[in-house]
Amino acid sequence: MDQRRLRRCTRCGELKGQAVLNDRYERIVRVPVICICKGIPCPQCGKRLIRRPISDEYDEPTGTVWHTPWSGYLMRCTACRASADSVRSTRPISDDAAGVAV
Ligand SMILES: [Zn+2]
Ligand SMILES: [Zn+2]
Repeated sequence: MDQRRLRRCTRCGELKGQAVLNDRYERIVRVPVICICKGIPCPQCGKRLIRRPISDEYDEPTGTVWHTPWSGYLMRCTACRASADSVRSTRPISDDAAGVAV
């Protein structure tokens, strides 16, 4: 993967710019990649940013470009996803069970 056309964002530290990919069919394709700063606010908390739908970003650890589909706006930020999971695990078993217990 050619990273020469990518530059590091000073705000979030992610690489952005023009990714040059070796596509299996079209051989060389240039894909604009954006960093998380260009994302949209989390629909739940509105504080953190999530990936902008229909965009691509470069994932440095794996060296690959990831695509966020149009349904990306349904996503929530990592903090909201984590809190949603903890809420679920601490919920009472069910309303039915509470009624039977009395
Ligand atoms: Zn950035
Ligand atoms: Zn959030």
